[in-house]
Amino acid sequence: MRISDAVNERTQRKQPFYSLEFFPPKDRALWPSFLDTVEQLKAMTPLFVSVTYGAGGSTRDNTLDLTAAIAQKGLTPMAHLTCVGADAASLRDFLNGLRAAGVHNVLALRGDLPKDRPVSDAFGEFVHAVDLVRFVRREFPDFSIGVSAYPHPHPESPSFASDRQATAEKIAAGADFAVTQLFFDHREYVAYVEAMRALGATAPILPGVLPVQSLESLKRILFLSGCNIPAKLFLTLEEAHAKGGAEAVREAGIAFAVEQTRRLLECGAPGVHLYTLNKADVCLRIASEIGPL
Ligand code: FAD
Repeated sequence: MRISDAVNERTQRKQPFYSLEFFPPKDRALWPSFLDTVEQLKAMTPLFVSVTYGAGGSTRDNTLDLTAAIAQKGLTPMAHLTCVGADAASLRDFLNGLRAAGVHNVLALRGDLPKDRPVSDAFGEFVHAVDLVRFVRREFPDFSIGVSAYPHPHPESPSFASDRQATAEKIAAGADFAVTQLFFDHREYVAYVEAMRALGATAPILPGVLPVQSLESLKRILFLSGCNIPAKLFLTLEEAHAKGGAEAVREAGIAFAVEQTRRLLECGAPGVHLYTLNKADVCLRIASEIGPL
């Protein structure tokens, strides 16, 4: 199934949905337990699930193999794909591999700049995600294409306006929908969608929600993504840690994600994309508190 068709249909019917993001373990010995996690999360009836792609394509085969395994479980997967280290031949291989597995869904990304080599070495003909969107749209017209979006601008961008313009260009180039980077204030999403509509970008924009699971993982994610967190939330999590340790942080993180999800859906978000961090229990708790979608 093309995810874009399913997203459009649910958006038009105003029937919200969950989508779930997983990152494949590098160690294949961990795949059975990873696939168990995926199996458990079928209970959320996600509209689709997405599978991340290692920096620089380092886990490309893992993404391909696990995307195929997830498709066999009767779920609709979307493989992430980045420009870093990619050329047209390797992209064709990857996309043909997806097609052979019956998957026609890709999230077209630039990828993070490598820290271990000059940027000029990392990119060939595909410099920005928009180049990948154009390539997939031209050579794989049967594919549904998602792209990233940043309610709080991407850390490298010089301004809010230029970052939004860059995302509008990805949509104009053929992307069917966008999934946002994590953020914690639902009003940022509302303002972002309004700004994108004003630029003529009408594609659905799915908000990405990260349930905070621990202070350590939160700090790592904020460092890697360059995202902001409202001071009040951070202080609440620190206070939870001081009073009740790791378990209290996890509970506060779930409570916040439930509230954020409710508010996003009330504000008209078509659905919510959960960054699962491969943790089934946390996502199932959120779904049970929100109720069925
Ligand atoms: P782009 O859209 O190309 O934007 C990158 C920067 O360039 C931005 O500052 C933008 O404003 C600017 N820009 C874009 N187009 C132009 C242009 N034409 N001219 C000038 N400037 C331009 N990374 C992974 O390695 N693997 C993953 O699986 C992965 N999954 C992700 C999933 C989601 C939902 C999100 C939001 C991010 C994900 N990332 C992943 C991280 C992503 O690769 C990084 O944020 C990366 O730094 C930017 O990728 P992008 O696709 O947003 O880039």
